[in-house]
Amino acid sequence: MMDFEKRLTEIAGAANVKLEEPMKNHTTFRIGGPARYFVTPENADALILVIGLCRGEEKPFAVIGNGSNLLVSDQGYQGVVISTEKLDHCQVEGNQIRAGAGVKLARMAKQALEHGLAGLEFAAGIPGTVGGALVMNAGAYGSEMKNVLVDAVLLTKDGAVIRRTGEELELGYRTSNIPTEGLTVLEAEVRLQPGDKTEILRVMNDLAAKRREKQPLEYPSAGSTFKRPEGYFAGKLIDDAGLRGFQVGGAQVSEKHCGFVINRNQATAADVEELCHQVAEKVKEQSGVDLEMEIKRLG
Ligand SMILES: Cc1cc2nc3c(=O)[nH]c(=O)nc-3n(C[C@H](O)[C@H](O)[C@H](O)COP(=O)(O)OP(=O)(O)OC[C@H]3O[C@@H](n4cnc5c(N)ncnc54)[C@H](O)[C@@H]3O)c2cc1C
Repeated sequence: MMDFEKRLTEIAGAANVKLEEPMKNHTTFRIGGPARYFVTPENADALILVIGLCRGEEKPFAVIGNGSNLLVSDQGYQGVVISTEKLDHCQVEGNQIRAGAGVKLARMAKQALEHGLAGLEFAAGIPGTVGGALVMNAGAYGSEMKNVLVDAVLLTKDGAVIRRTGEELELGYRTSNIPTEGLTVLEAEVRLQPGDKTEILRVMNDLAAKRREKQPLEYPSAGSTFKRPEGYFAGKLIDDAGLRGFQVGGAQVSEKHCGFVINRNQATAADVEELCHQVAEKVKEQSGVDLEMEIKRLG
């Protein structure tokens, strides 16, 4: 066994290391070739050690949450994919909730509801984790992570564990400085307001119904494919360019919501890339607006 593999297995535990793991099993797009190594560290300490090993050995690595904003290449990833799924502690303390990076937003929102805390209703239907939601400053229906975040605990490139506020993380429209600074989210704390449980539940149900009505939740996707260009809606621009239902291979511009590219029928990452390329080109031709991908790529 290679030395790297042996050390990785020692640090993470053999049961937490998979080889050549198909990434289509770890993305909501259900697309992606194999990760050379797929690791699910038991806790933040183990995750820090795994990243330290990767950095020391100059092995490429990527930390992922629920893979709900991720397009992984058909060739997969020749490095170490580190999943935060076991960083799943979630505690309510007064009006605040502290959660590990791997906690799903839906679970955090449910905790908020159970404790009569308002402010996370917007997040209940976003299928990401706390870590991925900070990287993207995930948001919907008039709110976003920036509005509730107290601060986050992060691992720096140099192996230090630091705390940063939303301002320090430069949370903006679907952006943060977490990737550009090579940071890894370990934990985050949000502050909510006391609210009425019935009202919180009503809002959550209302937003869930809106999603079911508007979004193609019956097909695998990564949510909104493109960012909203200032002053426009990506879906409307795509529709106006005559691209509703436009298909490349198994990938399709959703007929239900043109802002979503869906995996209609065993799409490859190459299908999605080509479709997005053509959509961006046609929208540019038609309306002069540049579409920028919201989805992150890996491999
Ligand atoms: C049906 C559907 C609906 C959606 N609706 C919305 C919506 O309303 N609003 C919205 O904002 N988004 C939406 N999304 C997109 C997606 O759910 C969000 O962007 C979410 O925040 C991504 O979280 P994740 O854990 O899945 O991240 P992943 O997809 O796993 O990762 C996203 C990026 O973050 C990085 N990352 C993940 N975890 C960490 C970490 N701990 N430390 C450092 N980097 C990390 C990854 O490397 C990657 O670059 C939707 C997606 C789907 C499929």
